[in-house]
Amino acid sequence: VELKELLNVSLLGFGSCGQVFKMEHVPSKTELAVKIMHRTASDEENKRIIMDLDVIIKSYNFPYIVRCVGYFINATDVWICMELMALCFDKLLKLIQQPMPECVLGKLTFATVTALNYLKETHGIIHRDVKPSNILIDAYGRIKLCDFGISGVLIESMAKSRNAGCAAYMSPERIEPSDPARPDYDIRADIWSLGITLIELATNAYPYSNCRSDFDVMSRIVTEDSPQLPAHLLFSDDFRSFVNMCLIKNYKQRPKYVELMLQPFFVQSREQPVDLAGWYKDVTTAAINKSRR
Ligand code: ADP
Ligand code: MG
Repeated sequence: VELKELLNVSLLGFGSCGQVFKMEHVPSKTELAVKIMHRTASDEENKRIIMDLDVIIKSYNFPYIVRCVGYFINATDVWICMELMALCFDKLLKLIQQPMPECVLGKLTFATVTALNYLKETHGIIHRDVKPSNILIDAYGRIKLCDFGISGVLIESMAKSRNAGCAAYMSPERIEPSDPARPDYDIRADIWSLGITLIELATNAYPYSNCRSDFDVMSRIVTEDSPQLPAHLLFSDDFRSFVNMCLIKNYKQRPKYVELMLQPFFVQSREQPVDLAGWYKDVTTAAINKSRR
């Protein structure tokens, strides 16, 4: 991909570290998602960015990670060209305005845990920003993880990136490290974020709602008991216990990927065929028709 071959089509959305545009790669007539992030010109920062981009480029053929087709870096911006997906789960939930079925969340769990485990085992990185807007679906019903923008190599000093990530999905041990001088959280911080994501998508409600600020959210995360799937809603015991495991407050007792991947909910979700493309088409069509009426 070359810069001059790109034609801006529309804005897909913006987040904390940049904007994402739909663009056309004119020679091949393919549409791409291009994320543009402003950067500071420090050497440290450059190294981080290039390292992260390296990981996404190397993950090109991994089925549960959004493909990166190229990138550009100039003095002020980084452009990351990705395959265009249909929607992220955050926007999908806002569109359909109803809880998502357990079998769909099973496939989301399978894709996300498999991708996170791959990133850890193959590249030694923690994602650090797992949330519904970083899990995407395409029209074929493929679910993929994106955004390693703030991830980093595990051995790297953690202190400087303590504030990275979204407060709403942040684990207790990241908010309140036992030794603030030497924060030592690990991949289990991402597992907590997955647990919160699953409750939000399964109930159509973010569990720490009605908070006035990030500070409020963070103090509730550390002081309150972990959220659970509400008893009055119909979910399998396997799903409930999977979510409970992800949300064990003391991260030293929270399972890691190897253990999660042996849980009945994970194993069944991996094996069970689910027509995700059909589900996606049905719910989005219904939502669009409803908004027309
Ligand atoms: P955040 O993830 O914090 O919401 P981002 O800047 O990462 O912010 O992304 C902004 C929006 O762009 C996301 O909500 C998502 O819907 C959309 N987006 C990101 N990457 C893609 C992609 N590859 N295909 C389609 N939409 C995307
Ligand atoms: Mg994102």
